[in-house]
Amino acid sequence: MCTNHPVVLTRGLPLRVVRTLNSKSPIILFPSEAVPNDAKHASALRLRFGDDLEREFELHSGEKRLTRVRLTLCLGLLMAIGFGILDVSAVTSFAGAVWANASVLLIMAILGAAIAVTQRRDGLTHYLKIAEAMAIGLGLVAALGELFAGAISGPVTMTRVMLVVLYSYHLLGLRFWQAVRANAIIFLCCGVIGYHAGLSVGALATTLFALALVNAVGATLCFHIEREQRAHFMERRLLVATASRDGLTALNNRRRFDEHLSTVWPLAQRDGVPLALLLVDIDFFKAYNDWYGHQAGDECIQKVAAAMRDAARRPLDFTARYGGEEFAVILYNASRAYVTDTAAQIHKNIAALALPHGNSQAAKRVTVSIGIAHVVPSLHRSAQGFVQLADQSLYQAKEEGRDRSVSNNTAYDSLKTGIFRINRRA
Ligand code: GH3
Ligand code: MG
Ligand code: MG
Repeated sequence: MCTNHPVVLTRGLPLRVVRTLNSKSPIILFPSEAVPNDAKHASALRLRFGDDLEREFELHSGEKRLTRVRLTLCLGLLMAIGFGILDVSAVTSFAGAVWANASVLLIMAILGAAIAVTQRRDGLTHYLKIAEAMAIGLGLVAALGELFAGAISGPVTMTRVMLVVLYSYHLLGLRFWQAVRANAIIFLCCGVIGYHAGLSVGALATTLFALALVNAVGATLCFHIEREQRAHFMERRLLVATASRDGLTALNNRRRFDEHLSTVWPLAQRDGVPLALLLVDIDFFKAYNDWYGHQAGDECIQKVAAAMRDAARRPLDFTARYGGEEFAVILYNASRAYVTDTAAQIHKNIAALALPHGNSQAAKRVTVSIGIAHVVPSLHRSAQGFVQLADQSLYQAKEEGRDRSVSNNTAYDSLKTGIFRINRRA
């Protein structure tokens, strides 16, 4: 079988987190669909994906970042206390003592508030909103503290501001452009404060030059780190998408089908809602291959796959290539009418393709048979049995002449087929 086709990936919300009507907890039903074009954005100067992807990136990197930020905020708190002790022990005047204590308390208040925000459940969203302002606040207090320390013990070096600059680029968890914005403001404020504090032009120029250099180093590193993070995120995303996609049709693959079924089966059990499985099999496909060749067979499978994708379009509908020339559609919480409509739509879409089949005993064109299992899963039933039920219906559809749908019409509770009952002793 030819499997070296490129994986066709579509743009869209990649991680679909859905909440069913009866369930409290959100469930993730679909894996990420990587968008190769977005990978370019990872290296673009903008350092920003499209809105949906950016949100996913934030979600993905957020938790780790928050834990790291909590630690670095504590580190900042320790540094502030250290500088505070130095300042307080160096002051000789009352005004100096007041300022030294006030600046340390201010920094501690800013950092303490930030730590408290990171403890909240929705901490990341709130933290990102205040982090930029916090960096500016820290920079300003540090600049003022620097002038004050310089007034007591010698030239103004802006060492503390430089520390805040590096801290905000690398440890505060800011995105690159946030850090650049905050530091540009700190830089300007340092110029204004230095000028009004009476620094000589030479001293001010030297200080600002050094500050600019520290900014350049901090920004360059920050840019590269964020770009790497984004590229890594895209690679991982592409890997997840590739692992769950079928190479020929770009539909979900069998592995993903199994995962999805094992997610929705217990969910439907819990919520007491019906689940439908449609097994769709191309009729006389071996004969099609024999007649038109394997390459044409592959193209036929691709077209049928596209028709399948178009038929099941609700957010919770799931379509996969089950294997060979077989496809599977899972419909969550679907009424009998919706299941019948979906099957009819699949037949209609495939008829609309009008793919000639000169070697079929069912029709002069490519047709499919559909076996449907439609049940409300109970605790004593297994997902494997559900598949087997659809398989039985499919067998019946084939027996009855193909190009049709057959649904299980046996009373669900009276079914005793194969492993549909979980082996209680197991
Ligand atoms: P039925 O109507 O009973 O389903 O008959 P059928 O010929 O479709 O069923 P059968 O299971 O005997 O044959 C399925 C064929 O599908 C056999 C295999 O060569 C072909 N097939 C499976 N996967 C691929 C594929 O990826 N590409 C191509 N071209 N053919 C495939
Ligand atoms: Mg088959
Ligand atoms: Mg077949």
